[in-house]
Amino acid sequence: MAHPIKNVIPVASGKGGVGKSTVSANLAVALAKQGAKTGLMDADVYGPSIPTLLGITDRPTVADGNRILPVEKLGVKVISMGFFIPVGEAVIWRGPMLHKMVQDFLGNVEWGELDILIVDLPPGTGDIQLSLCQTIPLTGAVIVSTPQEVAWNVAQKAIVMFDKLNAPILGIIENMSHYVCGHCGGREDIFGSGGARKAARILGIPFLGEIPLVKSVRLTSDQGDPIVHASPESAPARAIFNIAENLMTQVKVGAPPLGTKRVPSKIGAAGGPTIEIDWNDGKRTVYKARDLRLACPCARCVDEHTGQRTLVAGSVPAELRALSIHPVGRYALQIVWSDGHNTGLYGYDYLRKLEARS
Ligand code: ADP
Repeated sequence: MAHPIKNVIPVASGKGGVGKSTVSANLAVALAKQGAKTGLMDADVYGPSIPTLLGITDRPTVADGNRILPVEKLGVKVISMGFFIPVGEAVIWRGPMLHKMVQDFLGNVEWGELDILIVDLPPGTGDIQLSLCQTIPLTGAVIVSTPQEVAWNVAQKAIVMFDKLNAPILGIIENMSHYVCGHCGGREDIFGSGGARKAARILGIPFLGEIPLVKSVRLTSDQGDPIVHASPESAPARAIFNIAENLMTQVKVGAPPLGTKRVPSKIGAAGGPTIEIDWNDGKRTVYKARDLRLACPCARCVDEHTGQRTLVAGSVPAELRALSIHPVGRYALQIVWSDGHNTGLYGYDYLRKLEARS
């Protein structure tokens, strides 16, 4: 590659329809407007929508033998699978083809000098997304979630996936966070809001911001003129500019070095009545296994929208034990309990706070 790309940032979501591509496109334009040399790679092979969202009608050109020149729109260099497949044609991409596509995109595209390359991933956090990301050295990932989705589960799966790639989560964005009425401007939390913020807090990942559900976001997208360009003073556009600034801060700061973040240095064995953790600041914390189970912060044990604990203490046996305890990256412990529960990720900050309370 002629010029290094300083930061590669995939945007992931739990499922389709949460606004991942809309957020990716607007975020890229916002970053470019804020002065970052920005590229946008539409790797959503199943529904490449970036050309439509940005109103791109040109196609990439080929220069110097077989180097592909991205299309430039609103200050962003764009390359999309949508440029190469006929509209409406279903694409069944298998692992090796995906690898090759990403390698071609990165290896053969003349991106020039880039501060940031945003990668709009296909929805989901499975093998396809993993294999797509494996070909690129990542700075860190961004997660888009809606309040309807259980942000906790999405964040958890994304953490596990990006951890395999040794990439930190740069932050989570809550899209369609609350509804803003087009007539009176009133705000309504139709699907609830704040789930992503809460998941971020417990898992110790940055919360980048929330984008309201506003008709103009969809209308401007459909017209190929993203809201940050079409209506930069509107509430959703301002939210996205703010998110872009927060993201740049995270990129500059980077993930905290392990020495400064409180992480376990030694985790005691599972199976006993207590769980002991030695931390990298020299502290040792001891939890009763059952108490820790009862404090499980996952979405099955706590209602994400109300914060009410739904786990009934009487349903947890007195003799409950941890069957296994695994660290998940620099964020959390995943504990498999003898009552079959295994969806709880205990963020390190959360564990330290729990100890302080006991
Ligand atoms: P994904 O990439 O996650 O499948 P899209 O970006 O295609 O989702 O968005 C799905 C639909 O939701 C599109 O019609 C889009 O215009 C709309 N949309 C996304 N975000 C918002 C928002 N904040 N307010 C209103 N509509 C939105």
